[in-house]
Amino acid sequence: MKISFLDNGSIVIDHAQLMWNIGGGTPVRIPSYGLLIEHDDGLFVFDTGFDLEHTNAVLPFELPEQTPEQTIPAQLRVCGFEPGDVTTLVNSHLHFDHVGGNKHLPDAPVVVHERELEQARNFQPFERFGYSDRSWDYEGATFRTISGDTELARGLWLFETAGHTIGHYSLLVTPDSGRPMVFAFDVVYTAEALEKGVQPGFHYDPVAGVASIERVKQVAAENEAEIFFSHDMDAWNGYKHAPDFYEG
Ligand SMILES: [Zn+2]
Repeated sequence: MKISFLDNGSIVIDHAQLMWNIGGGTPVRIPSYGLLIEHDDGLFVFDTGFDLEHTNAVLPFELPEQTPEQTIPAQLRVCGFEPGDVTTLVNSHLHFDHVGGNKHLPDAPVVVHERELEQARNFQPFERFGYSDRSWDYEGATFRTISGDTELARGLWLFETAGHTIGHYSLLVTPDSGRPMVFAFDVVYTAEALEKGVQPGFHYDPVAGVASIERVKQVAAENEAEIFFSHDMDAWNGYKHAPDFYEG
């Protein structure tokens, strides 16, 4: 399989959001990206970044930056695909910076945790910014809800990591050859946060969030996997970006 990182631009958050209660008052620019996995069973996309127009309208204080080349359709084309080629879309969770491009992939059923879908449609008031982009819930969108740890396809294992949101999933990729990869998504945002065991400032259930940090570490250790971070600019700058890819 081939794993490509789809660049979706960047936003700015407070450091106390990056790491709960730590370093408030310091703005930090963080990356946003999706994954494209070319697999024998089809073409999978995991998360679709933020929508520039939505973010400018609803969260302008996050100072979004996204060029026309940093949208999901443009990034797919960089990899030699059209949006219609995608066979399965998976959302780790339904926050605005992970669903912005969903609407550009109308042919792909959306795999998401059943509790996440429920919550995103009926969220708590404090979650309103997170779930502010409703464009993924367009008429005709197909959802394949799941719960529990789930093997999506050979070597693609979604494991439950609630806390940041109620139905959050992380992903273990076990390629045929090469080192396994763990995508924590938003259990922690950065390598430093994982090391220190500090979850993001935004969370639905901080107790579950602590357990999920331990779970990510444990799954990575058991599989001797490398952990990839969702919103760590230094780490992101060290990753291969599409059209470059990881292969295994
Ligand atoms: Zn996020």
